[in-house]
Amino acid sequence: SMKLDELKLEVDYFQFDKKFYEKVNATPLNNPFLISYSKNACDLINLDYEECETKDFVKFINGQKVLEGSIPFAMAYAGHQFGYFVPQLGDGRAINLGHINNWHLQTKGSGLTKYSRQGDGRAVLRSSIREYIISEAMNALEIPTTRALALIGSSHEVYRDYMEKETGAIVLRLSPSWVRIGTFEFFSRGREPEKNLKQLANYVINQSYPHLKNDENKYEKMYFELVDKSAKLLAQWMAYGFQHGVINTDNFSIAGLTIDYGPFAFMDQFSKHSICNHTDMEGRYSYNNQPEVARWNLEVLAFVLGKICNFQKLMSYLKTFMSKQQEEYLKIMNERLGLDIKLSDDENLDLMITLLEALEEAKIDYNCFFYELTKLENFDNISSILDIAVFRAPLESWFEKYKEAIKIQKQDFSKMKKLMKKTNPKFIIKNYMLQEAIEKAQEGDFSLVNDLLKIAQNPFSEHKEFERYAKPTPLDYSNIKLSCSS
Ligand code: AMP
Ligand code: MG
Ligand code: MG
Repeated sequence: SMKLDELKLEVDYFQFDKKFYEKVNATPLNNPFLISYSKNACDLINLDYEECETKDFVKFINGQKVLEGSIPFAMAYAGHQFGYFVPQLGDGRAINLGHINNWHLQTKGSGLTKYSRQGDGRAVLRSSIREYIISEAMNALEIPTTRALALIGSSHEVYRDYMEKETGAIVLRLSPSWVRIGTFEFFSRGREPEKNLKQLANYVINQSYPHLKNDENKYEKMYFELVDKSAKLLAQWMAYGFQHGVINTDNFSIAGLTIDYGPFAFMDQFSKHSICNHTDMEGRYSYNNQPEVARWNLEVLAFVLGKICNFQKLMSYLKTFMSKQQEEYLKIMNERLGLDIKLSDDENLDLMITLLEALEEAKIDYNCFFYELTKLENFDNISSILDIAVFRAPLESWFEKYKEAIKIQKQDFSKMKKLMKKTNPKFIIKNYMLQEAIEKAQEGDFSLVNDLLKIAQNPFSEHKEFERYAKPTPLDYSNIKLSCSS
């Protein structure tokens, strides 16, 4: 592993015209201090863990120490926010440092850039804790995501729409790519859109689709692969009850990753129409609407990429998105139920639809249901599941269906359990847990941030002191909406 001073970064973004980025240095926070770092993430760039305990490391994250080869910059992009086109967005508070080992480093909360608009370039402690922990939680569930290596706090005052004073923080984020659909939207405007789009697409292909480099239909194929990756990603979100909260095209990765964590939530009690973002009045980004919104975003991309390849081919491939998403979703849900399914598609779909109806009517904690199911000794005594539901009857009748399905496929119980154990974690990081860690952190106690990180990174393991987090979310804290102000 390497010392901090041995890390050499490279920057590959200055090949583009100057209108697509701004070279800009971070504006340091006052009195920065380390809160937490992730050893798993250090491994990605071969960084010696001990380096993270040094003063230099805090300086590095705070922008006071620039690594060899690094030239800080912000990227310009556009985007559709809640369905409406906004021509000028960009990294308004994130600063890119360059890449190493194919991981592109970015600090979020590092001060003003050309793209800050009315914002202050800062990120508050609460939202930084959320992004830091959830990035690593998603990764542990094998849901494609950007990563987080470290979190620093400060005494720097930041003002948001709350009465309490808040302080600025910075997360060091890593990603194989920070390009968004919104980046393509930005490149498609102004002079020479074709030239610029081709240059960006070639850059993305090198970065995220290198096997297509020499393909004569590389732009179309890149799009097809993104459609497939996104279908799978959305299926994973849906199967684990993840709600992103703001799936604008500028928050939609060109590499099929979960990107830009804001008012996200892992579902507590199951509710199909749940909305986690309190500014989302119409539920555009409600749980159930996520696949359709992802498809809509990909359609925006098709219109843009249509300038450099065959639009009709893109659109006809996009038609497969919803059915692929559903197919992937059923696959994961079958695993969560321990079914190595040989049911017909219709029967399979019916089993899931009725499950979701039963979960919603029973008012049961979504992920606890699967965890309790995994722990059952047999299906004749399901009282441990019924005990965590508010209403028992809907689940009792669904179980009759489930048992029929099991009989049809003659699945043996121990095999079922094996399958379930792989997909049903004991711990899911829910918002009320993050809230507890945030409240302690705001009082200067960061121990729960580090404990939650450990749980997030090992959700299938035992965490003896935190048995309560494997229980249903207390009703008062279930499915609370979150503010975008972060
Ligand atoms: P989001 O939907 O939260 O990903 O952000 C939308 C846009 O607003 C992005 O271009 C962000 O960089 C920008 N933004 C959000 N918060 C701030 C802030 N506090 N200061 C500057 N820009 C911000
Ligand atoms: Mg964003
Ligand atoms: Mg954001």
